[in-house]
Amino acid sequence: MHKILVTGGAGYIGSHTVVELINSGFEPIIVDNYSNSNPLVIQNLEKLCNRSITHYEADCNDEKVLSEIFNEHNISGVIHFAAYKAVGESVSEPLKYYENNIGSLITLLKVMNRFDVSTIVFSSSCTVYGQPDQLPVSENAVIRPANSPYGYTKQVSETILQDCVHANPKFRTVLLRYFNPIGAHPSSLIGELPIGIPNNLVPFITQTGAGWRNELTIFGDDYNTSDGTCIRDYIHVIDLAKAHVKAFEWLEKNTDSIGVFNIGTGNGSSVLQTIQAFEKVSGIKLAYKIGNRREGDVEQIWASNDKAVNELNWKAIYSLEDAMDHAWKWQLKLGEKQP
Ligand code: UDP
Repeated sequence: MHKILVTGGAGYIGSHTVVELINSGFEPIIVDNYSNSNPLVIQNLEKLCNRSITHYEADCNDEKVLSEIFNEHNISGVIHFAAYKAVGESVSEPLKYYENNIGSLITLLKVMNRFDVSTIVFSSSCTVYGQPDQLPVSENAVIRPANSPYGYTKQVSETILQDCVHANPKFRTVLLRYFNPIGAHPSSLIGELPIGIPNNLVPFITQTGAGWRNELTIFGDDYNTSDGTCIRDYIHVIDLAKAHVKAFEWLEKNTDSIGVFNIGTGNGSSVLQTIQAFEKVSGIKLAYKIGNRREGDVEQIWASNDKAVNELNWKAIYSLEDAMDHAWKWQLKLGEKQP
């Protein structure tokens, strides 16, 4: 059985990917420092998968501990999720982001080299495109100057991985450019667990629906879109998780050294449409108001996912309403009172 090291495996996308890896016969080894996640996630994962899951509380910047883990297990590949992801925070604390997101990737790659592990799937983001000229955006669109230190860490990380491929003929990587992951596992055992006030739209919607927040502010309704609000490609986190399994299958079958894939549904939804989907599945009228535009927001973006569909043999199954339904059930499971 292939052992896959999953850094950030207790996080939102990481935990759902661990489930899909197990469902497909891989053996995940989780490394997480719980800086933005909770050790209880491991318990819930074990309940969901009905088995124990190997996990380590460790920081990917810690070369010594990582080496010990690689020494203990015959690891055949890595998925690197562990990174900070708050755009606004990255603007006020850039060094924190550069040190953690880039530093940990470099440390991980050094250890992989030492132990002769040569495949890695990397969590990248559609943020690398900025506001694309053409929609849907495809993988060969221009990479625009990043809007934030967070976005820049994704661009630099992609470049570092490409440089490693050029330097080492054995080294191979898949860069998955995620669009907007939402939703939760239908079991409601795992889901998104933002600490404090959420930055992202869907947890803010569900927390407002649950009464944790008084009202949602829509950041601008004067954009050049059909209803004036921004458009994103919201993808169910399980569909996104499954793309990681497909990435390893692609690496096994293909000889290419680099695969770059957009992972989105191929459909754009506006903020208002997303709210409407929530209202439909929950039966709740959401309290919201229109506010100012948020600095740095891209007006509209959605994916061309043709490459992932054709080459990875992957497809998004869930609809926006499915994802909102699962996000809402997860929110209800968290309870009425904010922890
Ligand atoms: N958004 C909003 N109110 C919020 C949070 C987000 O109107 O409280 C909007 C935001 O302006 C963007 C969309 O929802 O148009 C998605 O934002 P999110 O932060 O979830 O994703 P990203 O902007 O990183 O794609």
